[in-house]
Amino acid sequence: MLDEQQIQILPEFIANQIAAGEVVQRPESVVKELVENSIDANATDIAVLIRQSGKQLIHIVDNGSGMSKPDVLVALKRHATSKIKTADDLHKIQTLGFRGEALASIASVANVEIRTTQQGAQHGWKLLAEPLKPEVLEPVQQEQGTQIFIRNLFYNIPARKKFLRSDITEFRHISDTMMKFALSHPTLHFTFHDGDSLIFDVKPDSLQNRIQQLFGDEVARSLVSVDYQDETVKIIGYVGKPNIARTTRASQFLFMNHRPIASKSLAHAIYQSYEHLIDKSQHPFFVLNIILDPTKVDVNVHPQKTEVKFEDERGMYASMQNAVMMALRSESLIPDIRFREQTATNPFEKLQYGKSDAQDVMMVNTLTGEIIDRKPSQNQVFTGSSHSGGGGMSYPKVQSQGLSPNTQQFDKTTAWNPSQMSAFDALFSQTEQPPQQQTQAQNVPERLIWQMHNKYIFIQTEDGLLIVDQHIAHERILYEKALRAMNEQYPYSQKLLFPVGIDVTPTEMVLYKELKDDLLQLGYTTSETSPAHIEITGVPLDIHAGEEASSLHEILEQYAEYQTVRPAESRDNLAASFGCRAAIKAGHKLNVPEMNVLMDDLFKCTTPEVCPHGRPVMIKFELKEFDRRFGRTS
Ligand code: ADP
Ligand code: MG
Repeated sequence: MLDEQQIQILPEFIANQIAAGEVVQRPESVVKELVENSIDANATDIAVLIRQSGKQLIHIVDNGSGMSKPDVLVALKRHATSKIKTADDLHKIQTLGFRGEALASIASVANVEIRTTQQGAQHGWKLLAEPLKPEVLEPVQQEQGTQIFIRNLFYNIPARKKFLRSDITEFRHISDTMMKFALSHPTLHFTFHDGDSLIFDVKPDSLQNRIQQLFGDEVARSLVSVDYQDETVKIIGYVGKPNIARTTRASQFLFMNHRPIASKSLAHAIYQSYEHLIDKSQHPFFVLNIILDPTKVDVNVHPQKTEVKFEDERGMYASMQNAVMMALRSESLIPDIRFREQTATNPFEKLQYGKSDAQDVMMVNTLTGEIIDRKPSQNQVFTGSSHSGGGGMSYPKVQSQGLSPNTQQFDKTTAWNPSQMSAFDALFSQTEQPPQQQTQAQNVPERLIWQMHNKYIFIQTEDGLLIVDQHIAHERILYEKALRAMNEQYPYSQKLLFPVGIDVTPTEMVLYKELKDDLLQLGYTTSETSPAHIEITGVPLDIHAGEEASSLHEILEQYAEYQTVRPAESRDNLAASFGCRAAIKAGHKLNVPEMNVLMDDLFKCTTPEVCPHGRPVMIKFELKEFDRRFGRTS
């Protein structure tokens, strides 16, 4: 053993498969690598076709430089690249690729066919490659450029294949990537087909027009141009006016030298610029390109890592904030702000509570983008006491007799009286109460139910105190209603007098088509009037006037978001998305009868204690616990 050699150089094929583990994680990675190669080959026209979300076929056609016979023979080898020659080149990379790993990795986990013709060549070359089999090369007639077919991805790695998500999820990854290419390279022509359906066909154009082609007229009308330059950086692109802020981050695109990047700090700088303009639970639209001297950028990071670090992180942060602020200021955004101030019931509340409030996208930290996955088991009871051991629900005991505002059954010493209440309200609530509501409050002699900070409802129960989050409670109620509407054909739709329309992105359209039947059951009567437009003629009963279009849009966004965080049964997800979007928000003042209706509805639910995503609807404090803390032995 002593002198025996244990270390061996891995055979190339195994090395390639190991590299593939990092480079080719899913069909989307293949699309990304191949389109990058086409762009690097100076193609101006790139067509992408996928079948079965890329699992069956990925086909890319470009009109780029093409490859010579010796080049195509070596292209599938590991570390084969035409993009760098010397170590020096590594410091001034202008191409998207340079590692020479992509084709080798892909060819180790799929069947590859390349057809390629150089400019002025008599004919081109066709190369067939299958893992562990000899390559076959033959002449072929085709126009200048390169076509690559990737078939049966991961067929020789069943574990990886099994790991792939549903077709719709894999499709979404690909379509997100295609959107990024289309937006980072508006001067190139891209067509994108999913099977026989055309997802988009975008001709070379200005970035503004490209955004219009992909996101529709409303977004295009609401763009603010960003054109910023300081000593170190140039930032160009568009940000959206507040009216097109969304409930998820799906419409945010950040590029550095035309490469998609992620940067929590830059995202924060952008959100900062929108402070006071949009609610903290909303996400601004942006397509921004950061242009830096390539010698100053280290692209030699992990191939799948898009999160970038800047040498001068603070400086970049400041530049980004300046860029966006100046843009927002220069536009006549003031009317928009005024408009918001008039309509927002309580902007102060929103600022104060926005970040942590219940209408935040569940499980996603809006500032950092972190996903916090909290999934308490169903039926878990949340109590404020560490001693109670989480017994069952006790609220229903007081449900019928205790909730009416006229009831006199409570202990006067522990309940709030109206003057205490309004003093408290005056101190902590910034909302002006409509006079009518005030008199009503005064007419009610005493109450067992009370709203704190327009957000939490306090109810005295037989054995203590229950605190209910009004938004989450309503979410639960609507979630169960929606499930009933879909599963039991419970009528839940209202017809609109005037149809309304929404513009949708290609991804949203695919989602919409997938969900159309369930949406109809839920109460949305809709039809697609063009590949990017949906008309709504009916909505579920609980949708408020004026929110018909935004609700559907938000449900689609929310659904997509939940689908990545928590792939669940489609109807369940749809019901949860509906609940989340249609529920009353924190900051919404409720009067006593409204609170009572809400509580009655809540306790009619099958699982009133937790929201559809496992967040607690209520916290229970037992009287025993108060007694214990105040040293009162009971
Ligand atoms: P990299 O892009 O890092 O160089 P790849 O494995 O992706 O490595 O590609 C290897 C080489 O194959 C490239 O450097 C390029 O010379 C050639 N190549 C790949 N795709 C194309 C294409 N669509 N058109 C022309 N040449 C290509
Ligand atoms: Mg490449």
